[in-house]
Amino acid sequence: MYALTVKDISVTYDKQLALENVSFAVPEGSITGIIGPNGAGKSTLIKSILQLLPTLSGKVEVFNKPIRVQKKIIGYVPQRSEVDWDFPTNALDVVLMGRYNHIGLFKRANKKEIVWAKHCLERVGMQAYASRQISQLSGGQQQRVFLARAMAQDAKIYFMDEPFAGVDASTEKAIIQLMKEWKEEGKTVLVVHHDLQTVNDYFDHVLLLNKTPIAYGETNRVFTLDNLEEAYGGKIAFLQKEPTAVKGST
Ligand code: ADP
Ligand code: MG
Repeated sequence: MYALTVKDISVTYDKQLALENVSFAVPEGSITGIIGPNGAGKSTLIKSILQLLPTLSGKVEVFNKPIRVQKKIIGYVPQRSEVDWDFPTNALDVVLMGRYNHIGLFKRANKKEIVWAKHCLERVGMQAYASRQISQLSGGQQQRVFLARAMAQDAKIYFMDEPFAGVDASTEKAIIQLMKEWKEEGKTVLVVHHDLQTVNDYFDHVLLLNKTPIAYGETNRVFTLDNLEEAYGGKIAFLQKEPTAVKGST
């Protein structure tokens, strides 16, 4: 069973093609790393899948249904730089926003919802910051709050855009642990990622993208030096110092 199928998606900004004929199908219960150079269209891909951008052409299905009827089972952790961190709201309310699909937009959260949201904050080590304004949290703390929000949502498929960017080692560990727990629960996770050194550890599937897919599939088959060179245009010399980063390549 595929959790996500993307067929022939193309996206333009001001008539410039950002994505061209992107197709791939993600098995349920997998963790996919979306890898590619800056400007490859990784964020654009996630946003177009989630219908946050107009898509020129193509089709997206989540568990064989159009995405617009599946929003309840989709969780999204946007790229940190795209969030308005000055928005006057506290950590607990951000987590409760992840529950709107369950609560209903204009209803107040009940006690049970609040207890659940607090539990999610606790799981990411942020219980002490529930009433702190999000503008007054460090980058890693903000990321943990967004993680708690995703957890609170209890989605079946998660999209995370560079969740490790600018976080400390312990936050990165907390995020990867949560992703692996989600996988064990049968959830499907897609993660935009740029640290090539950790790809083998973190992901069982990889989508190598540069405007169009270079390769998609199991990490040990896709994450090869040849494919990386194709995706990055030969600018990955630093990898050779760390042969473990490309173990599995032949
Ligand atoms: P990535 O996340 O892989 O770094 P993006 O998806 O953010 O790449 O961007 C892909 C391409 O589309 C880049 O060339 C970028 O400059 C362009 N782009 C992204 N967002 C916009 C936008 N809102 N308007 C115009 N061009 C954009
Ligand atoms: Mg991006």
